[in-house]
Amino acid sequence: MSSNWRPATKLVHGGTLRSQYGETSEAIYLTQGFVYDSAEAAEARFKGETDGFIYARYGSPTNDMFEKRMCMLEGAEDARATASGMAAVTAAIMCQLKAGDHVIGARALFGSCRWVIETLAPRYGIEFTLVDGRDMTNWEQAIRPNTKVMFLESPTNPTLEVVDIAGVAKLCNQIGAKLVVDNVFATPLFQKPLELGAHVVVYSATKHIDGQGRCLGGVVLSSKEWIDENLHDYFRHSGPAMSPFNAWTLLKGIETLPLRVRQQTENAARVADFLAEHPKIGKVIYPGRADHPQADLIARQMTGGSTLVAFEMKGGKEAAFALQNALEIVRISNNLGDAKSLITHPATTTHKNLTDEARAELGISVGTVRLSCGIEDGTDLIEDFDQALKRAGV
Ligand SMILES: *Cc1c(COP(=O)(O)O)cnc(C)c1O
Repeated sequence: MSSNWRPATKLVHGGTLRSQYGETSEAIYLTQGFVYDSAEAAEARFKGETDGFIYARYGSPTNDMFEKRMCMLEGAEDARATASGMAAVTAAIMCQLKAGDHVIGARALFGSCRWVIETLAPRYGIEFTLVDGRDMTNWEQAIRPNTKVMFLESPTNPTLEVVDIAGVAKLCNQIGAKLVVDNVFATPLFQKPLELGAHVVVYSATKHIDGQGRCLGGVVLSSKEWIDENLHDYFRHSGPAMSPFNAWTLLKGIETLPLRVRQQTENAARVADFLAEHPKIGKVIYPGRADHPQADLIARQMTGGSTLVAFEMKGGKEAAFALQNALEIVRISNNLGDAKSLITHPATTTHKNLTDEARAELGISVGTVRLSCGIEDGTDLIEDFDQALKRAGV
């Protein structure tokens, strides 16, 4: 039974839908619409009496394969593939809120997610509270009679803090709210938010799921009931649908997800240990290390470390820039989850729009650097950091 397959098998075979030609690799169905054998057949399709596709904004065969494969991996009943991770986040939040509702978010959020909650939602009369998500009492105290949604990311970008997903899910259940988890940093392999009690999971498939730097994509996963009641109509009529070409690219990416994430995580753990011993580096934050401030919670809710490492250059911005410029293999880019190792300086790139105060609250200093490990040989990465730290004479 396919539901008993282990993850690596699901990721290669799950959801495959073969045409009459029996192609080995998944086919790309680049079609906007579908033709019906008769007017009666069209009527029956629109009434929902027969299965089948109607229009590519609603769903199409290649996207369907991607959604089914993601459902198998996540243990979700249903999913919708979206054009980007932000389309997934925006749809998952906005489809279940209306004027007068209240949303609570952990303040350590990917920049655009934070914009949706603190700038976009209030324009439509939705109230919000951002809290330090590490402390459960903050969530509890932020609850209002009109709280409908809680939103978090764990581990967070870029400082790799973790939030107790089961704890927040329990609070949601007590008040009838829904918990949406952005699971990008953990990957679907190392953390299962639905099993921990979350109601909705979202991904930027742009990251580890593609994993080879090619296309944007996203996905929202939940129960069939939640999707039918909240997302189904919103998705059809507001139109964040993924391109079938991207769905195909992501289906190919997902086949090798466990191989890549395993290698990236092994590399990240090795580089983190190397950096932690280096005299030019202050603090290293890595969810797989015993010295992570929340190591106990990580052991409870995650089954792997991370493909990312955050660290502090003692010499501040100048040292952080010198290090990045001296690296030869690791490339400077704000993306993550790629086969190529990528490094970024959050204070001047991904988090430059935050106030100094907001950055300080998130633990982002001028010396903070975020590394996304690729699938290169780990020894080469360590040698690259070794030579770059020597050359970065600060
Ligand atoms: C990249 C990212 C997003 C947004 O995804 P896009 O595909 O770039 O739209 C959302 N959340 C997290 C945690 C991300 O890393």
